[in-house]
Amino acid sequence: MSLENYWNNALKKVSTTMDAGKAMWLDFINYDGEYDDTLLLSCDAEMYKENFNTECKKDIQKALDEIANKHIEIIVSVNEEEKEEEEKENKSKKKSAPVIRKTNSYLNKSYTFENFIPCENTNFAYNAVKAIAINPGSSYNPCLIYGGVGLGKTHLLESIGNYIEEKTPEKNVIYVTAETFTNDYINSLAGKKIVDFRIKYRKADILLIDDIHFLDEKISTQEELFHTFNDLYESGHQIVFTCDRPVSELSNFTDRLKSRFTRGLNLSLTAPDYETRVAILKKKCEEKNTKIRDSVINYIAENVKTNVRDLEGSLTTLIAYANLLQTDITLDIAKDQLKHLISATTASEQDISLIDITKAVAAYYNIEPTQLRSKSRTAIIKDARNVAIFLSRKITQYSTTEIGNFFNRDHSTITHSIDIIEKEKKTNADLSSNLDEIETKIRAKAK
Ligand code: ADP
Ligand code: MG
Repeated sequence: MSLENYWNNALKKVSTTMDAGKAMWLDFINYDGEYDDTLLLSCDAEMYKENFNTECKKDIQKALDEIANKHIEIIVSVNEEEKEEEEKENKSKKKSAPVIRKTNSYLNKSYTFENFIPCENTNFAYNAVKAIAINPGSSYNPCLIYGGVGLGKTHLLESIGNYIEEKTPEKNVIYVTAETFTNDYINSLAGKKIVDFRIKYRKADILLIDDIHFLDEKISTQEELFHTFNDLYESGHQIVFTCDRPVSELSNFTDRLKSRFTRGLNLSLTAPDYETRVAILKKKCEEKNTKIRDSVINYIAENVKTNVRDLEGSLTTLIAYANLLQTDITLDIAKDQLKHLISATTASEQDISLIDITKAVAAYYNIEPTQLRSKSRTAIIKDARNVAIFLSRKITQYSTTEIGNFFNRDHSTITHSIDIIEKEKKTNADLSSNLDEIETKIRAKAK
């Protein structure tokens, strides 16, 4: 039985014995959610809370504990944000079911380990994440999964949640995006419900937070996360994060939070190779109960190399076409239907190497490619180097650390070079057109 039922039964029980002058204060108290053995109640004014505490709490606590056959913690918070008007409108609704949805219900049920196909490069990450799901809070705590868009970070993160929910449903798994965590935090501050917020997150056995790069510059949410983190970590509860880049590249994060992220296991996801792309496409067809010819599958796998989301997008386009026109997908249809997507990915980020970029930039500035990677600080070489670095970041998927390794510079120098060009572009039209010209040459060469 849920605490909400216990609460309703306790109300019924005390209503027969409690003096009417005291019982009236119960009318101002609403059930507002629950976590384990803690009942969350709310009311619209401090006065209601005080009167509830002095007049009713003792009796209702006794009734509640008897009904539940254990001690139930009661927390009452004052919701000052509630407008009177809104209250009237919602009154009936509120009394019957002011629900806090179980966070786990947000898990996408198709994100499972069975549905994830690792390739050679991601096998380690896959197995490590699986080990976490089997034995949370032990060896790999905390864990950070990072990589570019569409490479399966959310899929793996939610697989942990789904696995634990299936095998040990009594465990409290919380999955949230960093954006939801932030909104929750802000709302709790606005509604003076910070205690509830903390109870909610700190009662997690497993906390899964997706896309922590969203917290960039959000210093007070970072602070709150830092404390949540410490609390969970110290009590041996598992924490897993995802991020679109390595922690070293999170520039507007407090050092102490960054050091918490790096404390545990950091796993990187990379784009799948050809064989894995074929296997993923076949798996997706199976999931969607659709048959697509091998020649079409191979065609997609050969041409869409960027990430799994794009692979899936191609398949969805073809399936929609087949369903709409009630036709079988031939290779010609596939080529025609996917031509925009495929021309956009040909000579794309994947095929352009940093060497191609240095060659094109050096030719444009009439210098040697090796000078771009040298220590030389001559004005022209410095300018050309900034351009090469800027273009490397813009048109490839290399991280600033990887670009730094290539140009023999540290990651902060790379970020600085990119900033210089970004700023200068805004006022210098010549630079913008030069950049476009060099980029066009690079792309043309890569085709
Ligand atoms: P990210 O969070 O890294 O941006 P997602 O986890 O949302 O990426 O993945 C995008 C889509 O690609 C999802 O539908 C996911 O199921 C699928 N996907 C990604 N990697 C794989 C994989 N290795 N095997 C099967 N499906 C995958
Ligand atoms: Mg994601």
